[in-house]
Amino acid sequence: MPIIDAPNKLPSVDRLLNDPETAPLIHDHGAPLVTRCARNVLAAAREQVLAGKSFESRDLVVNLREEVTRALRPSLRRVINLTGTVLHTNLGRAALPDSAIEAMAEIARGASNLEFDLGAGKRGDRHQHAAALLRELTGAESALVVNNNAAAVLLTLNSLALRKEVPVSRGELIEIGGAFRMPDIMARAGCKLVEVGTTNRTHGKDFEAAISPKTALLMKVHTSNYEIQGFTRQVTEAELAGIAHAQDLPLVTDLGSGSLIDLEAHGLPHEPTVREMLDAGADLVTFSGDKILGGPQAGIIAGRRDLIEKLKRNPMARALRPDKLTLAALESVLRLYTDPARLADTLPTLRWLTRDATEIEQLATRLAPIVQRHCERFEVSVERTRAQVGSGALPIDSLDSAALKLTRPEVRRPGKALQELARTFRQLPIPVIGRVADDALWFDLRCLEDEAEFIDNLRGLAST
Ligand SMILES: *Cc1c(COP(=O)(O)O)cnc(C)c1O
Repeated sequence: MPIIDAPNKLPSVDRLLNDPETAPLIHDHGAPLVTRCARNVLAAAREQVLAGKSFESRDLVVNLREEVTRALRPSLRRVINLTGTVLHTNLGRAALPDSAIEAMAEIARGASNLEFDLGAGKRGDRHQHAAALLRELTGAESALVVNNNAAAVLLTLNSLALRKEVPVSRGELIEIGGAFRMPDIMARAGCKLVEVGTTNRTHGKDFEAAISPKTALLMKVHTSNYEIQGFTRQVTEAELAGIAHAQDLPLVTDLGSGSLIDLEAHGLPHEPTVREMLDAGADLVTFSGDKILGGPQAGIIAGRRDLIEKLKRNPMARALRPDKLTLAALESVLRLYTDPARLADTLPTLRWLTRDATEIEQLATRLAPIVQRHCERFEVSVERTRAQVGSGALPIDSLDSAALKLTRPEVRRPGKALQELARTFRQLPIPVIGRVADDALWFDLRCLEDEAEFIDNLRGLAST
């Protein structure tokens, strides 16, 4: 086997491509891609040789195979979320149930009645597919699905309050991660925000004083990712609805997360349901599909039929509409809600949120020695932790959970070693995402269900 220790001993691109071991790569993935990879591999090898390294010519074929694997790897990939945040916006929020994935695949594969009325044999309405279930589950007269909740708020305000005023409590002028700021959305929707009350206290009479002939609607925003505590007062939905309706104005509630069921029945903190908001007098309620609801990314607007019809007629509705895969997944997830007794089994989000901490701890205890074998320089222990719901759902509250804690007790400043270790886990065939905090790398196991896959995936760790 020839040793390559000088640039002139490197093969040409052609020779590397004509190597008998390269042929299957070209057969499987095509010459253009393999040629591009061969150039990269030879350029890297040339730099290494110039830096004084040497290797065998067979290494080049091995490197080429790895380079092709890298080039074929999708940019958007599945990861294992062990951050302890169940609905992690950066990690794609809710995981879909198998039934929804199958529904999406079925619709993706061919033509569908997306906008076709099978009974009448003519053009239909894409919003029809989820509307009936949404009406049933929320008690709303009508419902509309758009791209996400930010779009729902934008469309609602633009349709009902263009060039008009919208009073909102100062305590509810929220920013959600990723640059969703209520005042900015209002400006882009073309309406004028009228700030009402103070940060900690807003009264009904503040709203009454803020109403003018230019007022289009009253708005309430669910402060989903923080809580103002202490000497506070916000006007309730029911009180605000009374004030709005006395002036013939609609009340719009941006519920953010928006549960469809009573979460307390599942041992979780109370989260206002869409039905409660409508019963309290909200004329429209907007909420996300991929937060506590556990479905695909979507924004849902539920409420009065005449207002929903106005929203549908807005040309902006076309730009914000959901695609057929979203609608397929959403309909399928909503159908699970019609059997609420089984929801904690059938819906991954609820299954993970309600998972018993003792069961998670047992899983951690089984996995700790296995992870320890792969991470010899670190100490692996099992710790009770607090996991988060995430995505602004259920503020403040956290869930009892359990985690693997990886530390380097003998190192005074382990920060760099821990970041390196976290990086190694992120480079596994299925990247594993943990959290570095308090001189440890934490893997919260609340969202880990496939134990065998996790263990198998660890084989990608060289002993660290
Ligand atoms: C999350 C949230 C939004 C944005 O919803 P997306 O579905 O992420 O667009 C808007 N308002 C509130 C109150 C929220 O919690």
